[in-house]
Amino acid sequence: MAARILVVEDEEKFARFIEMELTHEGYEVAKAFDGRTGLELAESGQFDLVLLDIMLPGLNGMEVLRRLRRSSSVPVIMLTARDSVIDKVSGLDSGADDYITKPFAIEELLARIRTALRKTAVFGEAKILTVGDLRLDVGRRQCMYRETPIELTKREFDLLQHLLENKGLVMSRETLLEKVWGYDYAGETNVVDVYIRFLRSKIDERFGTKLIATVRGVGYVIRDE
Ligand code: CA
Repeated sequence: MAARILVVEDEEKFARFIEMELTHEGYEVAKAFDGRTGLELAESGQFDLVLLDIMLPGLNGMEVLRRLRRSSSVPVIMLTARDSVIDKVSGLDSGADDYITKPFAIEELLARIRTALRKTAVFGEAKILTVGDLRLDVGRRQCMYRETPIELTKREFDLLQHLLENKGLVMSRETLLEKVWGYDYAGETNVVDVYIRFLRSKIDERFGTKLIATVRGVGYVIRDE
């Protein structure tokens, strides 16, 4: 079945050009020319991937992404004319899977799309990680403690997933940064501590467990109590 791609881009000519190229590659394509329509369509759950421009009328791309991530983990590739590190960092932090700067070669976009879709295919496989009574369903992007669902942001989910994939092994802050954030935060490893705190408050403090342990001077480990 052809993957379905939503293109949210207000420059209609450009959107049509992308649509033509993607259709030629065998994808099914739908377009939205403003942020609100884009968000509505993206939330419908009928797309496998969203190409999202940042500069949009109505809601801008960052806001669309922020709202979309409350209910959906559909892969999103941000499109932007600006090539600033700040955009990249905030885009990835608000849950974008990738980022491409205009103007780009269509081959580059196609390669990014293939990569993002491949990742979902891997996520789509049944993969359940557990520790104690905590259960992470990687395919469905759901986290449960016994019968209680726990809401996690994309970053929290990824961090928890990485800890669980290495259950019982102490992970250094640097390793977690690299694996979960995927790029160098220039020594700002305390972002890891901040997210560990988020996870603890949502899991250990809430359910009275001690699953996430600090290993002083080294890093963190998740293990059965
Ligand atoms: Ca635009």
